[in-house]
This record gives sequence, C-alpha cells and structure tokens, in this order.
Amino acid sequence: MEDVFQKIIDREIPTDILYENEHVIAFKDIYPKAPIHLLIVVKKPIPDLQSVAAGDLFLVQEVVKAAQILAKEYGIEKNYRLVTNNGTEAGQTIFHLHFHLLAGKRLGAEG
Ligand code: AMP
Repeated sequence: MEDVFQKIIDREIPTDILYENEHVIAFKDIYPKAPIHLLIVVKKPIPDLQSVAAGDLFLVQEVVKAAQILAKEYGIEKNYRLVTNNGTEAGQTIFHLHFHLLAGKRLGAEG
C-alpha cells in the first residue's frame, strides 16, 4: 500500500505543516472526523505501534510532546484525544506510525 505520509515527509505531496522537528511531523487530516483532527506522524518508517522497538520508544514521547504543543496552540489543552490505530481491524489504513489528535466536539467512545 502507498505510504502517503512518507510522501508528505519528503515534500512530494504539498501539505500545511503545523509542527515539525527531527522526529515527527504534524498536519491536518484530509478527512476530519472532528472539528480539530490533526495527525502526528513519526518520520521513521515504522508501520505501526506494535512494531516500535525498545530503542524507538522515545519517538512515542516525541509524539506526546508534539501533541502537548499543538493542544496549546489550538487552545484544546483540557479536552482532546490522542489515539493510534494498530492494524486493519482497528481502523488503520496507512501503515506508517501516526497518532490522531482529535478535539472540538464531545467525542464518543469510538470518536
Ligand atoms: P489510519 O486510518 O489510522 O491509518 O489514519 C490514516 C488517516 O490519514 C485517515 O484519517 C485519513 O483521513 C488520513 N489521510 C489520508 N491521506 C491523507 C493526506 N494526503 N493528508 C492528510 N491526511 C490523510
């Protein structure tokens, strides 16, 4: 399956970058499921959370740090959801590790 996120990281697909550092990049989800729906993508091409090796766990910390920064920028510090889908049956469609930052409405159990 095509890795759209790698193309965004490589600037092959133009996207408004909301946050970026050496390890992660964040931009708006193209099909938002909430008024604020951002994606925080780990730049290293790790397919999913389950594949994160012990030595790469700091990358998940980087995602959390980015989420905290973005939550402040968007004024949603008090109410947001940070989730990742691991595997097709969990809803994963792009196999490049990323987290969804959702906010701006009352989120149900399934978002
Ligand atoms: P997941 O289903 O958890 O793998 O999340 C993939 C997300 O990427 C979905 O919510 C899509 O709407 C989103 N998406 C797919 N292509 C793009 C794109 N070119 N730019 C931004 N978001 C995208």
